[in-house]
Amino acid sequence: MIEKEEINEILSSYNKEKITIGTLCSHSALQIFYGAKQEGFRTLGICTNENMKSYTAFTAAKPDLIYVIEDPVDVLEEKCQEFLRNHNTIIIPTGSFVEYVKPKNLEEKFLVPMQGNRKVLAWEGDRKKQKKWLETGGVKLPKEYASPSEIDGLCIVKFHGAKGGREFFLTNSENGFYKGMKKKKKEFSETEIKNFTIQEYIFGVRFYPHFHYSPLDVERGLEVDNGYLELLGYDQRIESNIDELHRTGLSRKEREKLNIEESFSVVGNRPVIPREKMEVQYYTLGKKIVGASLMLFSPGILGSFCPETICTKDLEIFVFEISARIVAGTNIWSPQGSPEAWYIWGEPMSMGRRIARELKIGIKKDELEKIIY
Ligand code: AMP
Repeated sequence: MIEKEEINEILSSYNKEKITIGTLCSHSALQIFYGAKQEGFRTLGICTNENMKSYTAFTAAKPDLIYVIEDPVDVLEEKCQEFLRNHNTIIIPTGSFVEYVKPKNLEEKFLVPMQGNRKVLAWEGDRKKQKKWLETGGVKLPKEYASPSEIDGLCIVKFHGAKGGREFFLTNSENGFYKGMKKKKKEFSETEIKNFTIQEYIFGVRFYPHFHYSPLDVERGLEVDNGYLELLGYDQRIESNIDELHRTGLSRKEREKLNIEESFSVVGNRPVIPREKMEVQYYTLGKKIVGASLMLFSPGILGSFCPETICTKDLEIFVFEISARIVAGTNIWSPQGSPEAWYIWGEPMSMGRRIARELKIGIKKDELEKIIY
């Protein structure tokens, strides 16, 4: 594990007037670059040759510098890390960055300052730890079934691998579970298929709230412990094909006959806003998650995070997963900012810009080491 002291040492060697904000050209990179430029930072894109033309085609958001790689894991090569450090780079780890480079590599081999708390990687990436984190916070979670024989209602069977939601399936019986698993055998390796969870299917509407937690004295948002929590908007993921299956008018039985399976691949995002009374509940939820993170892995969750939630007809909020960094759903509010972000900042504040603003405040207060690891 790379020690915090090692990162502090690199950070102390950086020229604070020439900090570069860098990330992998994927996921929410355009928003991060654009937001960083708005805050006056130089930007650096780590980009494959394949993506280069598309990323430079967004002229106003394109990064000032590009470091070309063949594969995202190339960021671990010493010459790349040296290049990043030589340019006083702070990396913003996005979902794609973490997924492609792998949490373990970032914990052990990536000696470049990153925004956020590196300790969160272990808590986000391990299902049991994530559950403990959320349970410690006292948030509602869907029930998990230890065995298929316990299934007593509609369940979602989840696999924990690169294919993610694409291969999830729904079932309401033990028999249905084994039938579903038989079909999935073609898609997964023997080890992958064993790595599943059976979770209660929650009936309701999905909301993906975008939080930002700062341990600095920003005096914006909700005061939580010695920091500030901001609720900067919501999105709803658009998932194919489940979101539009109803258009076919086919029943489950008919679909089964035609061999049409549901899938939960994220293909986009749309803006959404809950009833105003729910905004209070969502702030409370964020506060619980921050509180638990401070207890379990101090200094806790830093910067952007997103609990994935379902709100039932009785306005109960269930959390079925958490992303401990900027989510791609925040792209819908860049660069104009969500209503909530306006009510906190009174100016257009996308998540990308908010992250850059945090670094700017950290530099000004000489407290960068509080938000970097
Ligand atoms: P995940 O990979 O956990 O983010 O889940 C992918 C998608 O599956 C979600 O965005 C939801 O549409 C759906 N989903 C996951 N868990 C549940 C649940 N417990 N109840 C209902 N839908 C769920």
